[in-house]
Amino acid sequence: PDFGLDPESENAARLRALQISGLSSLTPYMMVTNFACGVVAYIAFSSSLNPWASGAWLTGLTILSAVGLISYIQGRGKPKPSFASRRSIVKATGWAGMLALFWAALASYGYPLVPLEKQPILVAIVSGMMGGGVISLYVIPRAMVMWLFSITIGCVGGLIIGGTAENYAILALLVVFALALLKAGTSMAKTYADRSISESEIKEQADTIGILLRDFSENAEDWLWEMDCDGTFTRGGDKLQSSLGTVMPIGDTAEDALIENNSYVVPDRHQRLFNFYWKSQIPFKDLSISAGNGEETRWVHLSGKPVFGPDREFKGFRGVATDMTKAKSDEERIAFLAHNDALTGLVNRSEFLRHMKEKIKYGSPDEHWAVLYLDLDGFKAVNDQHGHPIGDALLSEVGKRLKDTVTEKDVVARLGGDEFAILCNSCGTASSVSGLAENIIQALSAGYSCDGLQLRVGVSIGIVLAPVDGNTTFSLLNNADLALYRAKEEGKGTYRFYEHEMDEIVKERRSLENDLRLAITNNELSVYFQPLISSGDGKTSGFEALARWHHPKRGMVPPSEFVPMAERIGVIAEIGEWVLNQACIEAAGWPNDLTASVNLSPQQFFNTDIVATVRQALENSKLDPKRLELEITEGVFLDNTPEVLDSLKALKAMGISIAMDDFGTGYSSLSYVLKFPFDKLKIDKSFVNSIATDDVARNVFEAIAKLGEMLNLKVTAEGVESKDQAKLLEDMSCTHFQGFYFGKPLPATDLPSYLMQEFKAEIPSEPSISLQVEDTKQAG
Ligand code: C2E
Ligand code: CA
Ligand code: CA
Repeated sequence: PDFGLDPESENAARLRALQISGLSSLTPYMMVTNFACGVVAYIAFSSSLNPWASGAWLTGLTILSAVGLISYIQGRGKPKPSFASRRSIVKATGWAGMLALFWAALASYGYPLVPLEKQPILVAIVSGMMGGGVISLYVIPRAMVMWLFSITIGCVGGLIIGGTAENYAILALLVVFALALLKAGTSMAKTYADRSISESEIKEQADTIGILLRDFSENAEDWLWEMDCDGTFTRGGDKLQSSLGTVMPIGDTAEDALIENNSYVVPDRHQRLFNFYWKSQIPFKDLSISAGNGEETRWVHLSGKPVFGPDREFKGFRGVATDMTKAKSDEERIAFLAHNDALTGLVNRSEFLRHMKEKIKYGSPDEHWAVLYLDLDGFKAVNDQHGHPIGDALLSEVGKRLKDTVTEKDVVARLGGDEFAILCNSCGTASSVSGLAENIIQALSAGYSCDGLQLRVGVSIGIVLAPVDGNTTFSLLNNADLALYRAKEEGKGTYRFYEHEMDEIVKERRSLENDLRLAITNNELSVYFQPLISSGDGKTSGFEALARWHHPKRGMVPPSEFVPMAERIGVIAEIGEWVLNQACIEAAGWPNDLTASVNLSPQQFFNTDIVATVRQALENSKLDPKRLELEITEGVFLDNTPEVLDSLKALKAMGISIAMDDFGTGYSSLSYVLKFPFDKLKIDKSFVNSIATDDVARNVFEAIAKLGEMLNLKVTAEGVESKDQAKLLEDMSCTHFQGFYFGKPLPATDLPSYLMQEFKAEIPSEPSISLQVEDTKQAG
């Protein structure tokens, strides 16, 4: 009876609702038929039957029909429920059963009593009711069976009681009739149920699709649009308008739309394209429509299909629209980032190379152009001292200034870090490029104020002229880099053109770098010692260890050349450690507590455990820490890390002296002197150089020496070369002297004879410095 459905399921409930509504649509006819047949039966048979019984029967039937009719009329206005309970089926079945009982009663009671000539009327009524009932009740098979069964039983009863041969014949016919009706009714019921089930499934699907579509057009960036044959939007037009910021002009309405809207305008060509599709009534896909107001452009993609009526008449268009504004701006941003540097907005390296390639490939061979390779001077210090955000702000300001300095035709790129490049299309001659380079140096060297800080950087520039200096991007950039390197070497803040010799220089430098890596293993390094003279007694108080490199082919390479190189290629820590050990071992053999001063590179503080290295050197040599002095430069403090101060404190705590080397040459030596309790200041030889000739230098020197005295530091004057200088220095508050005048750096093997000489010089009881100095000078 549930047609294969789970009676608890939603579909069964939905089917029940359909059954009930199918039944109730026939209720009025059924009720009227029942009543009408009841009246006919009463008129026909009441004379032959008990009048009271007939009266009661008709009254009962009338009431039942009336109640059925009234409840149908009452329920007519109400919406039909989508679901019906099992009870409602039971109720309907009960109702049918009750009505059937009246007809069963008529049949069973009437057949034996009705006269023969009226029997056909009875048979007609009963069988008519049987058939009619089945037709109206088949939607609810249970009710139909109940109906058929009750009436048939009534008839069977009546006919058997009647007992005539005709009665039996009618009985047989009735049974066959009932069975046929039953069969027909159930198969109709099955068909009805199947159809109802599939209809309800389709409806359910349609509901879901409807919800999805509504969602689609309300929330997503896509929506459906429809347009009638006059070009008026019947759907999705308002969304299109809000996305574009203007009305989408179609056909003849275009002019109006443009006048009405004074901000966003759809460009003519987009409008014409849409109108073309519209007029030719052909489908289109992803048609881009934009609207701009000068500042912003909005985008919509339209896809559409013409709609035709049954007679192929044009009814308009229907399709999907997509808001592309965000997608387009994302796309543009991605494209921008692929070609530009995010920080400065300048062209990036790969895009710059592309510009160069195009220039090389498509530029005319007579055309002259230049590439400037720029590297900022002092940027690392700014970045280290003030942090990356300040460094970034500075870089983007540099980018702006560069853009302002060049012309529209030139391409400015940030190649990475603090390196920039310019492809100069606007200056064909070397002198015009020089002019540009000078302007750039001037523009970039002006002060920067970032976040309340006043900052300064410089720039060095290497220049290549194309096509003479190279014909590939690689050779041009490489040569520009060589020129840049030279500019840096020649004091920074300047520019250099590429010259062919630079290639050679760099090649040589590379091979020298490789040699330096092997210098320790190849035993090419040695340590020289330069005496330090105490101003009190004029005697040697110790020696400064100075590294030397005897190159097998080049001879002596000065430390001013190989120390920075070692720092650059990262072998200074190794070399420094080797010098330190050599110096300690030598010093351990010196008499009279002579001290050893060893230079340390800042990198030894940053990249190695300097404290452990020094401790190891002292252990190896058994040198008293009091006899070791370490010389550091202010470069050690540039990174401003607390670890450096910790290391220095630890070294000092071991009893080692710490000297500030090259004092006066840096930017803020004074602040560093206050930061850490140094034992000694070594005043740079540049001051001593000019002390005899320059009053200002002399005053500065004197002030520094006084400062040292006030801070209770030892003060060494470096680079004393002449007798005049030595004389002048006598009056100043120096505790030590160092310089060629007193003694040149000597190999360790020469130290015994040097010391011997000094010892001998004491014997003629000549305590004056100058005399003694003369002697040592000869020794050096
Ligand atoms: P520095 O530490 O200032 O060393 C003193 C430099 O001045 C030495 O140059 C020395 O020979 C030179 N000098 C001494 N007296 C005079 C003089 O009267 N006149 C002139 N014109 N020069 C004088 P050197 O040996 O060429 O060393 C140069 C620099 O290389 C040193 O400057 C130091 O910064 C560095 N250096 C040398 N050896 C080492 C080392 O083992 N480790 C580290 N990290 N640096 C070293
Ligand atoms: Ca030194
Ligand atoms: Ca020095």
